[in-house]
Amino acid sequence: MNQTIFPTLADIYKAWRRIGGLIRQTPLVLSERLSHLWGGEVYLKLENLQLTGTFKARGAANKIFSLTEEEKKRGVIAFSTGNHGRATAYICRSLGLPVVICLSERVPSFRVEAMKALGAEVVAHGQSQDEAYQKALEIKNDRRLTMVAPFDDFEVICGQGTIALEIISQLPEVKTVVVPLSGGGLFSGVALALKSINPSINTIGVSMTVAPAMIRSLQAGKPVEIPEVDSLADALLGGIGLDNQLTFELTRCYLDRFAEVTEEEIGRSMAQALIFERQVIEGSGAVGLAALESDKITGPSPMVIVVSGGNVDMTNLLRLVEKYKT
Ligand SMILES: *Cc1c(COP(=O)(O)O)cnc(C)c1O
Repeated sequence: MNQTIFPTLADIYKAWRRIGGLIRQTPLVLSERLSHLWGGEVYLKLENLQLTGTFKARGAANKIFSLTEEEKKRGVIAFSTGNHGRATAYICRSLGLPVVICLSERVPSFRVEAMKALGAEVVAHGQSQDEAYQKALEIKNDRRLTMVAPFDDFEVICGQGTIALEIISQLPEVKTVVVPLSGGGLFSGVALALKSINPSINTIGVSMTVAPAMIRSLQAGKPVEIPEVDSLADALLGGIGLDNQLTFELTRCYLDRFAEVTEEEIGRSMAQALIFERQVIEGSGAVGLAALESDKITGPSPMVIVVSGGNVDMTNLLRLVEKYKT
């Protein structure tokens, strides 16, 4: 068996140099409301304002920049619940490369349309991530494309880790960082960079109660499958992969604490973020806010909450505002 090679801080710096010209440095803003509520300084790292609406553009860009000219010319393929596909399609269009996006038939249609609008060839197949993945492998092999994996990939993890370098440069005294947690690409990259720069920074991962795949896997001591359900945090759905190579180990290594939030808590935080922070945040992007607002996490101040994305159906968001406005 090949020995697994894990990324280092140097790899994340390399990613930062590579993608800097294409990716946005997102704002880090103090939330007066949350700071008052918590009793310490709370900052939001607004990746909902990233190109394509989520941090996934960072990982996709770094992966695609790492390919050879030959590989770029043949094109890439991604399987995705939406945000990863959208990011991959966007980066490919920016660089003029062909791209196929494979997804399950459960993905909401507004996400599919967004990818088609970016010029991607979209293949909808099966009822689960797993079936979509099998289809993607088939097409990849037939057409000799390069797979851009959503989280369990060296270059993707390094791309997501560039968020931590921005946080450190924007708020060098940061002591606690809260990160949405699904497959763990975002968490692994961010936590690896933070802990390498300053091991005393606290890292907290947050998942939704209905399907916390990484948390259940960590508790079991190995990757486990969990039943497929629906959630407001739809971009956090899906397993971590039973043959997980990198993110399970990295998360196990760098996670100090975790929290789980309910659908009710996520919905309320999405509504409050729009009303009070004037930010459009999708369910997956709001889990850190939900954990703080429901008093499930704490740590030394200042705290940074990574708001991972803003791709939400506006009708659904406004319905939540109607339901939770007080
Ligand atoms: C993909 C995604 C996540 C989770 O990232 P992982 O690397 O799978 O843990 C969180 N929030 C949003 C908006 C996402 O698109």
